[in-house]
Amino acid sequence: MIMRVNSYWFVFYKNNLLLKKEGGRYSVPLSPRALLTCNAKKIYASGCLNKTNCKTFEVKRKINTDGFEWIGLRECFLLLPEKTFWAAGKSFQFLTWARDSRYCPACGVKTKPYSYNANMCPFCKKEIYPNIASAVMVLVQKGDSLLMIRGKNFKGNHYGLVAGFLEAGESLEECAAREVMEETNLKIKNLKYFSSQPWPFPSGLMIGFFSDYAGGKLKADPGEVAEAAFFTVSSMPKLPSKISLARKMTDAWIKEQKKRF
Ligand SMILES: [Zn+2]
Repeated sequence: MIMRVNSYWFVFYKNNLLLKKEGGRYSVPLSPRALLTCNAKKIYASGCLNKTNCKTFEVKRKINTDGFEWIGLRECFLLLPEKTFWAAGKSFQFLTWARDSRYCPACGVKTKPYSYNANMCPFCKKEIYPNIASAVMVLVQKGDSLLMIRGKNFKGNHYGLVAGFLEAGESLEECAAREVMEETNLKIKNLKYFSSQPWPFPSGLMIGFFSDYAGGKLKADPGEVAEAAFFTVSSMPKLPSKISLARKMTDAWIKEQKKRF
């Protein structure tokens, strides 16, 4: 049951979120102040956080006002409680869908609202739901070591895990095996689900698996991977940011290893 009358207001300008700043602390504004809503073309309900409704909209130009700051969504992870950050991510994915579903992709006709998260083309009746790009992430274990890679597109010098987008007609298991083979030339077995995580940059879902090495000689794909190697707990490279599923999986693996040895 919703107890409070206020709502959390997730206001975006491009991929920047408007945060309230008070005494060095950042928060998502709670009251529907006129200055927040005056530039809203359309306001959407985007779920619930801490028993409070969430609302979201985007502005075409930045509103600059005392006590508020625009912060890139990714950086918000370091400034907001984790649950609040993921609610912001959900709002951002919602706005991405709202923007991308204004016209029917099949016939170009302007769509109409169909349900809270779907638009419909009045001409061909196509329903347009949020387009969520699914990606698989794989942690490969070999004895007391795990496989980590540094992608050519990584910003910074940290390592991560093998990952890639699901292709049409592919199962998650097939995707995991294909990505590990493509990026590192290795075969895997014993695929085990770990967890999943929305990835709102701009609208994805990461699905994480643990697996065991099953054969092959390690060879990094020169097109995508700068470096690939097996690491033990005592020789770990620089790890990815705590926002990432790769980090959660690596931390879980390290914790297990420390229990075993
Ligand atoms: Zn259509």
